[in-house]
Amino acid sequence: MTGQTTPTTGPAEDATAPDRPALLMEGVCLQHGDGTETVQALDDVDLAVRPGELAAIVGPSGAGKSSLLAVAGGLARPDRGTVTVAGLDLTAAGPRARAKLRREHIGFVFQSGNLIPALTARDQLRLPLRFRPRRARSGRDPLALLEEVGMADKADRYPHQLSGGERQRVGIARALVTGPSVLLVDEPTAALDRARSHEIVRLLARESRHHGAAAIMVTHDHDVLEHCDTVYEMIDGRLTALA
Ligand code: ADP
Repeated sequence: MTGQTTPTTGPAEDATAPDRPALLMEGVCLQHGDGTETVQALDDVDLAVRPGELAAIVGPSGAGKSSLLAVAGGLARPDRGTVTVAGLDLTAAGPRARAKLRREHIGFVFQSGNLIPALTARDQLRLPLRFRPRRARSGRDPLALLEEVGMADKADRYPHQLSGGERQRVGIARALVTGPSVLLVDEPTAALDRARSHEIVRLLARESRHHGAAAIMVTHDHDVLEHCDTVYEMIDGRLTALA
């Protein structure tokens, strides 16, 4: 999506319009290293993801995919370029504003769910809601979301009582419970068999669309790309649209 001309400024409310990217990266560069030995992890990356879109990023190990997720999620600051989330410039924000933006606008889905062992499925979803300021939107109903991902009947189970696919379903529901504009998804099928992998990525596509979240999924699994709206390839820090 090089050459994207969609405007990047304006009130956050406007950013929820379906034709406006919820995540916009423009000319993003990131180097790792100490100056003597540096790696160009992101090299002039442009990416625009609309609300409800599921974008996949494939590419070999070391290509820069995790670095892209870290920058998109405000966990790493790029050396150059801008990252706009829900109309707000993440790169211009200080540490506190960045943390707030992350909390309110970004959901993370990890490789194998990353659930907290001591909490039931329902409480995994209640926890992020507790960290919301009182004045902020109250978030979504945990049980309704568990119902949506087919886990309502297991709401009182702990992670060790769930299968890998079920843990991932809860992980997706947890990422959505605060109503994020952007979902960052890291290898969600890494621990799943083929059938479960399709099921989980189909679910991600459906839920992103349903909730109007822009989802960016890093994956090695070419099998599941059919469920994605757009596919990008990352090689040596450069991002190219494939479909
Ligand atoms: P991928 O997720 O595609 O495997 P990464 O984003 O993890 O790629 O890494 C991109 C490049 O940056 C690789 O060459 C990696 O070795 C390097 N890299 C990543 N993190 C660091 C770091 N903290 N310090 C130095 N180099 C790093």
